Amino acid sequence: MEDIKTIYDVIVIGAGPGGLTAGLYASRSNLKTMMLEKGIPGGQMNNTAEIENYSGFKSIVGPDLSMKMLEGATQFGAEHVYGDVQEIVDKETVKEVITSDKTYLAKAVIISTGAEHKRLGVKGEAEFNGRGVSYCAVCDGAFFRNKHVVVVGGGDAAVEEGVYLTQFADKVTIIHRRDKLRAQKILQDRAFKNEKVDFIWDSVVEEIIGDGKVTGVEVKNVKNGETSLIDADGAFIYVGILPNSNEFRSLSITNEEGWIETDANMMTQVPGVFAIGDVRDTVLRQVATAVGDGSVAGNAAYQYVEELKEQLEKHNV
Ligand code: NAP
Repeated sequence: MEDIKTIYDVIVIGAGPGGLTAGLYASRSNLKTMMLEKGIPGGQMNNTAEIENYSGFKSIVGPDLSMKMLEGATQFGAEHVYGDVQEIVDKETVKEVITSDKTYLAKAVIISTGAEHKRLGVKGEAEFNGRGVSYCAVCDGAFFRNKHVVVVGGGDAAVEEGVYLTQFADKVTIIHRRDKLRAQKILQDRAFKNEKVDFIWDSVVEEIIGDGKVTGVEVKNVKNGETSLIDADGAFIYVGILPNSNEFRSLSITNEEGWIETDANMMTQVPGVFAIGDVRDTVLRQVATAVGDGSVAGNAAYQYVEELKEQLEKHNV
């Protein structure tokens, strides 16, 4: 594994909206900044067709906002580098950021690795993944033109993506385990008004059925225990998200569910290690809140690096 001897002021891990904003704030404060990303910049925004709750834009296509944020983040010299981070090792005044092929050094690290879609954990889900089972309506919706798809879940993602799928599918059936949606009211209203959307309430998917590709789902009503087979060409699963934080468990900064805990400055209990956006233990996970976290962390990292420099100079290190 190659060691890179340059010591960055800040390394941002993950270049979603939070990471890109942290990169912008840190580099604009003249910090030597690198943003490490293992996918494409923008994170989950790239899987979002229309973002209409990010202030300043009536509506913007997710990948377009990603590119605008990348331009903003790199204009003051922040580097954008491919890297799949495996671990951070805290050596107090310096942090080692270990990727699959290199070790980078930084005075401060900002973790912005986001979250990923939870699996439902039923028979057929893994077998038909990519053959009718999907976690991304924007990526796969067009394959279901004039077809019937089910969407599993009752949160913002299930309802928003369910409505999005109606531009392709003839019919979208949202299957929810309760009789009330968790999604924001405005999203619920859109779904209730859309003639192509119907609901199966109080029900869970027990199995995804298929023959080479999805042909239906077996559904159980949790109130009366009755099961039924729903014919469908696709099953979109939106049953929540899990933090991308396994690589940081050795720092003991995650709670029991894996979300990273921070103070109001986005600093974890390890001095110089910050966490922002969806991976953080927080109450609202939106582009806007990730951006807010990123600006706070970029600024706090600047303060941290300046104080560290002063202390090291005082002690002639
Ligand atoms: P979520 O808010 O956690 O909702 C998950 C949904 O899946 C809930 O309705 C839950 O049911 C259901 N569920 C969980 N486990 C299940 C299981 N095993 N079987 C069946 N159903 C199950 O997750 P999300 O919708 O993916 O959203 C994640 C975060 O992103 C949220 O903070 C959300 O606000 C945000 N987001 C925002 C937007 C937007 O602002 N436009 C869009 C997408 C996502 P219960 O309701 O019974 O718990």
